Amino acid sequence: MKRVFALPLLLALLLTGCGSPPPAEQPPDAQQTAAAQPVTGTVFAMDTVMDLTIYGGEEQLAAAQTRIKELESKLSVTDENSEVYAVNHNGGGTLSADTADLLGRALELCGRTGGALDVSIYPVVRAWGFTTGEYRVPGEEELEELLAHVDYTQIGFGEEDGQVTLAPGMEMDLGSVAKGYTGDQVISLLREGGVTSALLNLGGNVQALGSKPDGSPWRIAVRNPFGDGYAGILEVDDQAVITSGGYERYFEADGQTYWHIIDPVTGASVRNGLVSVTIVGDSGLVCDGLSTALFVMGLEDAVEFWRAADDFETILIAEGGQIYITEGLEAVFSLPDQASGLEGVTVIRRD
Ligand code: AMP
Ligand code: MG
Repeated sequence: MKRVFALPLLLALLLTGCGSPPPAEQPPDAQQTAAAQPVTGTVFAMDTVMDLTIYGGEEQLAAAQTRIKELESKLSVTDENSEVYAVNHNGGGTLSADTADLLGRALELCGRTGGALDVSIYPVVRAWGFTTGEYRVPGEEELEELLAHVDYTQIGFGEEDGQVTLAPGMEMDLGSVAKGYTGDQVISLLREGGVTSALLNLGGNVQALGSKPDGSPWRIAVRNPFGDGYAGILEVDDQAVITSGGYERYFEADGQTYWHIIDPVTGASVRNGLVSVTIVGDSGLVCDGLSTALFVMGLEDAVEFWRAADDFETILIAEGGQIYITEGLEAVFSLPDQASGLEGVTVIRRD
């Protein structure tokens, strides 16, 4: 996908190495010396820049990069050689284990969010030009026609054999969950390889493996949707911090700004008072899917959804600059000294 107006990926990672104490003069053993120096690498995949920081060896970094590229080549909606492309153009097919695993779990999230997440949204996303960069505002009739093909419940999928069937006109788009799934896969791979500390920034989707090598939590900045800098810092370990923001991809036409997240009921580019939704939880896939879905839901429904759930926390930033955080983040969230456009923080409680 092309990003014409997309801003640089600024979700800053505060690898607080800069603020941490200098290493001990005589490290206890060679293993610790090696682990104290991360290997770092950048991959351009899934239309974004991915930064990997791994307390391990070059081998593990290379394995992570290979795995990311492998998943990209299966999941891309625009690459003519991908599985998703083949399914969309053939009306179905047999998926590899990875793609079947992702689709099965993505469909569960579509159901769980009452269709706010809908992986069959692709015909509408394409009509808006979000995948081609040929941006335009589709007319109401056109949207109505395309919406007739949008309904994730109509995707025929056999988890056992990976067979997927799409009705004529249907096309799927796993762009809302692919990076989160990829993060989970890379984390498992690193864990299996003996890594206990790593931080992945997959284009603003941040996923932490363990804590920093000194045992302190990773400090992750949540981007300020209104300007430079960040809206807050989260201290986490072993968790995913995933944001959907209007600023990630958008275009302007007739004095209006249109964001890349689509309401599957109306086909409209979502504009409901929220500017960014960050989800914090154990599963990158779940956080990624829910960041998109809660963005579609809007503040009130997103809060209700959180109240009924127990597998994530969230930070919702509204157009007026208000920041809402759920109570599980109260102890780990802090505000920056200064941030333009932002108002106070409200803590949302369960009761
Ligand atoms: P994310 O950045 O994770 O919120 O994902 C946004 C991407 O998911 C968009 O660029 C579209 O490709 C796709 N998308 C947009 N709206 C939806 C939706 N309601 N459900 C599923 N995918 C969507
Ligand atoms: Mg998402």
